[in-house]
Amino acid sequence: MLPSTRTFLHRGTTTLALRNSAFSTSCKAQKSYRLVVVGGGAGGCATAAKFASKLGQGNVAVIEPADMHYYQPMWTLVGGGMKKLEDSGKPMSQVLPKKADWIKQRAVSFEPDNNTVMTEDGQHIEYEYLVVALGMQLNYHQIKGLPEAFDTPGVCSNYSTLYVNKTLTSLQNFRQGNALFSFPATPIKCAGAPQKIMYISEEYFRKHGKRDKANIIYNTSLPVIFGIKKYADALWEIVKERNISVNLRHNLIEVKPDSKEAIFQNLDDPEDLKTYQYEMLHVTPPMSSPDVLRQCSQLVDAAGYLDVNKETLQHVRYPNVFGLGDCSSVPTSKTAAAVAGQVGVLGKNLSLALRGEKPRHLYDGYTSCPLVTGYSKCILAEFDMNGNPLETFPFDQSKERRLMFHMKKDVMPSLYWHAMLNGYWEGPKYARKLMHLGMK
Ligand SMILES: Cc1cc2nc3c(=O)[nH]c(=O)nc-3n(C[C@H](O)[C@H](O)[C@H](O)COP(=O)(O)OP(=O)(O)OC[C@H]3O[C@@H](n4cnc5c(N)ncnc54)[C@H](O)[C@@H]3O)c2cc1C
Repeated sequence: MLPSTRTFLHRGTTTLALRNSAFSTSCKAQKSYRLVVVGGGAGGCATAAKFASKLGQGNVAVIEPADMHYYQPMWTLVGGGMKKLEDSGKPMSQVLPKKADWIKQRAVSFEPDNNTVMTEDGQHIEYEYLVVALGMQLNYHQIKGLPEAFDTPGVCSNYSTLYVNKTLTSLQNFRQGNALFSFPATPIKCAGAPQKIMYISEEYFRKHGKRDKANIIYNTSLPVIFGIKKYADALWEIVKERNISVNLRHNLIEVKPDSKEAIFQNLDDPEDLKTYQYEMLHVTPPMSSPDVLRQCSQLVDAAGYLDVNKETLQHVRYPNVFGLGDCSSVPTSKTAAAVAGQVGVLGKNLSLALRGEKPRHLYDGYTSCPLVTGYSKCILAEFDMNGNPLETFPFDQSKERRLMFHMKKDVMPSLYWHAMLNGYWEGPKYARKLMHLGMK
């Protein structure tokens, strides 16, 4: 049923449902909004900010259970001791738009045929339009021995607030042996992050006189060091120069903290299991779209991601549903930079839809990955969803540069907190045009 054909008692306040359906008779309380955004992370917060002021008080709701909003890209620097975990977070109440209603609950199910989202405390939240921005789910439990092994020395992970501080501790306590870095056999957010911390660790060991005692090993499930050839070529040079071992198609399946062993499966020969001793083990966990989304078969594709048109970001079956960010099926690398590009397109297309018009703005798949390669250098990888470089600056970005490091460490966080989350940063498209004199 199209949202315009629905009758609501009133918007934005708790009320009883009017409709005489099995659903409405069973629901204990109902709120209804013109726009409901599920997830108040990078994509959800920025989208809500765009529409809260446009649609006005009481018309937009954000369903988000977390107390804190984290700028996750900073965790690479937290792991390396360049920033503190506290620097990466702000209370959710400070970042969500004031004109939106914050429903501080976990969404537990979707009913797209009834335009409804259910929350953990039993609320039925009805919408005319829905934006899904749930991010990704970390599945540490899929590796045998985790998460328990995180309670033992040397096992760490920049991907979670629970374990990111252990990365620095593991570096500080490192005496001698293998420093292992893993990359799982699933899509992940920021596919560069598993190796960024490896380069930082390598420099840490050099700076602290432990490099000759450290055997640095990157075991990745991927068949390549990085998905985009231009940057992969540069990274192969770096690992060669810095004497880092890279093993492709190696997937971490078990951690044995008592014997300090990590077991990897050779994905080209699944019977072949290899055991590595570790002094330090940095784990990037398997990830998926969140269970709550995967459980709604009407909304997802075969892989469990929100099934949207990769250019318009409108759902392929429900025209009043849009989605962006890590939980969507858009086949681009999952980053906050990609989210910024998507926020602009989604914002324009949703505005058209709200006026009864068809979406016509198209996302080009822009994404970026600042590949931090130490304490002062970075390769700024920028590319589209076909794997073609889409660089902002008029010089070769596959070279390590100090300028890019400062962009990542000092400029991007402010851009995120002050511009992106308020709905004003939609990626470097115009800067790129300007720097290339309108040629790109
Ligand atoms: C270590 C690390 C390094 C990274 N480095 C970079 C980088 O250098 N550059 C870059 O661009 N990106 C980087 N990223 C990726 C970037 O952080 C994500 O791609 C981005 O945050 C995705 O935004 P999102 O809105 O899709 O999801 P998120 O920002 O993760 O937000 C999802 C939100 O949904 C909420 N949620 C979850 N379940 C529910 C539920 N059931 N109901 C309601 N709400 C729910 C969560 O609480 C969260 O607030 C990095 C990430 C990590 C972890």
